[in-house]
This record gives sequence, structure tokens and C-alpha cells, in this order.
Amino acid sequence: MYDPLYTMKKVVILKIDSYDVDVIKDKVKKAIYEHFSFDSLFSPGDKILLKPNLLMPSNPDEAIITHPVVVSAVSKIFKEAGFEVCLGDAPGVFCGNKDLDSVYDATGIKKIAQSEGIQLLYPKESVVCSDIPLCWWACPDDLRRGDSKEEKFKMINMPKLKTHEIMVLTLAVKNLYGCISGLYKSRLHCLYPTTEKFSDVIVKLYKMIKPSLNIVDGIVALEGQGPAKKGTPRKVGIIVIGDDALYVDYVIGNFLNLAPGLNPLIKKARQLGLIKEEELEVISEIGDTKVSDFKFPNTFILNRVPPFVLVVLKLLLKFKPAVNYKKCKNCRMCEKVCPAAAISMDTGKVVIEYKKCIMCMCCSEMCPFGAIDVKKSFLLRLSDMLHKKRHPVDQDALIPTIKK
Ligand code: SF4
Ligand code: SF4
Repeated sequence: MYDPLYTMKKVVILKIDSYDVDVIKDKVKKAIYEHFSFDSLFSPGDKILLKPNLLMPSNPDEAIITHPVVVSAVSKIFKEAGFEVCLGDAPGVFCGNKDLDSVYDATGIKKIAQSEGIQLLYPKESVVCSDIPLCWWACPDDLRRGDSKEEKFKMINMPKLKTHEIMVLTLAVKNLYGCISGLYKSRLHCLYPTTEKFSDVIVKLYKMIKPSLNIVDGIVALEGQGPAKKGTPRKVGIIVIGDDALYVDYVIGNFLNLAPGLNPLIKKARQLGLIKEEELEVISEIGDTKVSDFKFPNTFILNRVPPFVLVVLKLLLKFKPAVNYKKCKNCRMCEKVCPAAAISMDTGKVVIEYKKCIMCMCCSEMCPFGAIDVKKSFLLRLSDMLHKKRHPVDQDALIPTIKK
């Protein structure tokens, strides 16, 4: 018999103003026990895997990574409940243990892991086989090879609330891309170079990996030209918890006043019938408050253009990466991450071969010095300006019933 309660997706918005570990722990713990039935999600003996967003070596104050204090608070909740806690991520293009270790170190995660007794996970030679290759620790049970001796985990997906130059926002669903090891990430960018096709990959990942819970760090978010060094930290003051990553993203998009049709992932999920508003229950400490002036990346104008028009306009409405040589430190990171091998430094400085470039903006995302800008064509800038004048705030966002 159909039980509506069984299919309800819950999203809880907590108002939390600062990175105080005790406050975060108490509020998140209460929310998990009250709204998500801890005992039915987790069983004695489960190993808990925390999957934060650790995009690159970065100070938590830059709001590029999930704040270590949130990681610490969530770890304490599970440790106190008697669980073993591990942490894994496959940030950026980093594949080797040494690279990942430097990310754990620079982000403050290693220090937290040492004090909390969290086991840090590192890549292994092999990744689990499927048409989207995943890191061994992220592979769902039903995709494991029959003889797999790998440990199994219950995943707590812990994204950072950030903007993203291609996907507009990176939240719970996009954070699952960090379950793919570095080199494969680049390959997928090459195979699926458009936002539309890339959204297909991310939605596919969402269908494969089902975290037990998603806990989004939105206390200080990243707005503007996210998801890395060119973004701007912005205090938003929320932590969002949900049992379904897609619904979490949907609710946060609404909260940020982003129309669902302008968010490529939500648009794709709706086309596929994956979001049913009537199955969503939002429990919010902030009522129906919205952030009406959150700054999205200036590239997201392309999401407003229908695909058939885009075909005609794509020659005119262009953007491309452009190196700011005043900021560039010749570190070669962009050359290393470019999935299309479009960047070379043979002349001693960064040269982008635009014929090869697939506009994935990985170079911009991973540049440690924010030295790669998005250069827009005149028409794109003009269109952006006109849209901002006509629609200072997008009004067609939907907010489902909110329980206070
Ligand atoms: S990653 Fe940035 S700083 Fe490093 S070489 Fe490329 S543009 Fe220059
Ligand atoms: S140059 Fe930058 S935007 Fe172009 S393909 Fe390489 S990484 Fe992607």
C-alpha cells in the first residue's frame, strides 16, 4: 500500500550564525534525531564516511571548503553514538596520497582528524569499475564487484554552499563529483563538455550514490565567481540537512531566490521527473526568508537561453578563460588540470590554445592564485546587463510548504 510518509523527502534548515563547534553539534544532532530517525538510518557497526568538499588547499576563511569545525561537530555526533568515523574526498585533480595529504593538511582537516580520531582515507591504485568510475570508498554496495573486499560505508555528504561558474551552484549533488578520482574527472569533462551534458553526468552520479544524509555548510557561503579563489565569502547563516541530495539543492536554490529553470541540475532533474514538490517537507528555523541579493557567477546567463536559440547564438554569446598575467605565478596547475590539453607553458608563460578549449573552466577553478578570469564577448556582457536591469531579482522561484 502506498504510504505517503515513506516517500516524503525532508529538508531541515537550521539558523546557525558562527562556527561554534558546540552550537553546531547540538543543533545538528537534535535535528538528525528529531527529523531523520537516526536508528533507521544507521545500525551498530556501520562505518561512517564524511565526504566534505575539499576542492583545493585553502584556508577555511576563504569559504572554498567545508569548514573543519562543521566536520568536527558532525564527527563528534557519530563518535558519541559509538560509530567509527572516516573521511574521504578526491579534490580537484589530486590523485596521489602526497597531494591529498597536502590538501588535508592545508585545510585544517588533518588537525581535526587527529584530535577527533577520524581515519583519513587515501586513494588506491584501482577504482571500482562502472561506467562512471568511483573512488573505492564511494562505491555503492550494488555496484561493487562480487569479490570486492573493500570496506563499506554509510556516507554523510558534507558540501559547502558555493557558486559555480558552469553549474551556477555547487551543493549536495555536485559534491558527489568529488567521489570520482582526479584523472577520470578530467576525462568526463572532455567527454561531456556542455553544461547540459555535464548535468547528465552529475544526475547519473546522484542516482548511483545515495548518501545517508546530506549536511550543507552554508554558515559562510561563497558567492560571485565560485567555486574557488575568485569567489567572495558571504555570511548566510544556515546549515541545511536532508535525506535526499537533490531536494536539499532544490530548497537551497529557492532560498537563494534562484529560479529552478536557471539551475542546470534542477532543470535536468525536473525534466527527468526526479523532483516532486508534493513529496517535499521543509522544516525551517528561518521561516520563508530568502536571500534576494545572492551574487551568482556572471557566466550563468547562458542558462537562460533556450537550447535551439543557443545553437544560433553560441558563436556570439561566448565566454572563454583568459589569463591575468599580473596574478599568474607560473605554478603550472592550470596546465596540469586542463582536460583538453589546451594549456601549455612552452614559452615560459601560460598560453591557452582556444581551438582545443572546451570551456570547462577547470583551469579557472583550480588556479591557486585566481589568475584565470572569464572573458565574455560583447553580446554576452550586453545581454547580462539588460537582464540585470529587467530582473533585479528572479521572482519565479517556488517555495514549498514550510513548517516552522
Ligand atoms: S594555475 Fe594560475 S598561477 Fe598557476 S600557471 Fe596557471 S594561471 Fe598561472
Ligand atoms: S583551457 Fe581551461 S577552460 Fe579550456 S579546456 Fe582547458 S581547463 Fe577547460
